[in-house]
Amino acid sequence: MAGESLIPVLEKRKLNMAVTTPVDGKLFTLEQELAFEHERNPWEAQAARFDLAARKLNLDEGIWKVLRYPTREIIVHIPVQMDNGSIEVFTGYRVQHSQARGPAKGGIRYSPDVSLDEVRALASWMTWKCAVVNIPFGGAKGGVICDPRNMSQGELERMTRRYTAELIEFIGPEKDVPAPDMNTNEQTMAWIMDTYSMHMRQTSTAVVTGKPVNIGGSRGRKEATGRGISVCCDEALKHLGLTVEGCRVIIQGFGNVGSNAAKILYHKGYTIIGIAEFDGALVNLDGIDIPGLIEHRAKAGTINGFAKAEACDRAELLTRECEILIPAATENVITSRNAADLRCRILCEGANGPTTTLADDMLEAKGIFVIPDILANAGGVTASYFEWVQDRMGYFWTELEVNQRLDAIMCDSFKDVVSYGDTHKVNNRIAAYMLAIDRVAYTTKQRGMYA
Ligand code: NAD
Repeated sequence: MAGESLIPVLEKRKLNMAVTTPVDGKLFTLEQELAFEHERNPWEAQAARFDLAARKLNLDEGIWKVLRYPTREIIVHIPVQMDNGSIEVFTGYRVQHSQARGPAKGGIRYSPDVSLDEVRALASWMTWKCAVVNIPFGGAKGGVICDPRNMSQGELERMTRRYTAELIEFIGPEKDVPAPDMNTNEQTMAWIMDTYSMHMRQTSTAVVTGKPVNIGGSRGRKEATGRGISVCCDEALKHLGLTVEGCRVIIQGFGNVGSNAAKILYHKGYTIIGIAEFDGALVNLDGIDIPGLIEHRAKAGTINGFAKAEACDRAELLTRECEILIPAATENVITSRNAADLRCRILCEGANGPTTTLADDMLEAKGIFVIPDILANAGGVTASYFEWVQDRMGYFWTELEVNQRLDAIMCDSFKDVVSYGDTHKVNNRIAAYMLAIDRVAYTTKQRGMYA
């Protein structure tokens, strides 16, 4: 993938290394690489879009300053005894961007690439996302710099529990409610819930969402982000006068979001022609058998080697002709270096921040219909809201009830964003930001400044 193998530019500068670096067969100067690194800073990308939307809204200058920055940034250093007896110290973050509309809400990710700027951006996106779908939460995000692929379950559990303990006074059902994100899952949430409950001396299920169903999780939560993506795809096709029949889809990332989106779209009759993962990619122009691929991946631990599709280049797959491209892996995969090559009609952003701001302009020039992340992947937090509501009631809904409520919210939110964009003559991304910022600004002003 573009840029992936680069030595960080500043490191190179320190080492006084060569001024050109080959990326996907192309050569770039050191200046171009520096600009590219800048382009991929998620916090700057978030702030640039926020500023643009705020300007278009004519936002009050004071409220602009309040909403542009997170309210709280917590950094913790987490000592963990490893299986071999040694002690490692991991750095973790929790950023709370806003609690104006309700408790802060947002996932926790484990990855070697986690940075404070990334977590800041993700926390802000959570505020806008919750406001786009109009649920009573603010925004937060957490992350720990670690490589979960090289950690045992025991090490992950000890790290998760200590991270939770370090954050104990900042999280809670009425304060900040974490959820899963990249490389965290139901088990991680169960550990957090248990650690928090032990400290509080009472079982407190509503402190996290994305838990296993038997301990307060919601039916339908695991599939909800993928389900929300599928609703956005359905609505986008209707809006553009296209049909599910013959609709070719390419998905990057076959984790929680990507595999569930693939499964639901497959069952709705879409033709999934390509899947890219971090270690390979598959293509089948007649359509990939998604249930078969899920089964294969569960056994083999990789999508590679699946008999009913051909292996292909994973960067090139993103630029193949299709109706819908769904990046559902990580940030900055659609950049100024590949946006011009995309041949999709619709870009549906399953991941958070998959597109850089420079790429935004290129996609707009190409007439690609973008369903922005803060709308497209909001199904996850919407079902998290349902989980939090059910936990607090102690009364649980059927999967059908969850799905019906989720579909209704996603469908209405899609229509709200598209019609806001039509009214204000802005693209879908800026429309989603404007709609969200307007809602958060209204509440912020109404609550007033505590001094
Ligand atoms: P996950 O860890 O379950 O899955 C991510 C998948 O992407 C993994 O299979 C990984 O191998 C793959 N991947 C990583 N880098 C890749 C690359 N460069 N190319 C191809 N594949 C790559 O994580 P997830 O929960 O599915 O989250 C994916 C994205 O969706 C993230 O941006 C996350 O913030 C966002 N998101 C997740 C949820 C949720 O409910 N889990 C909700 C909203 C948004």
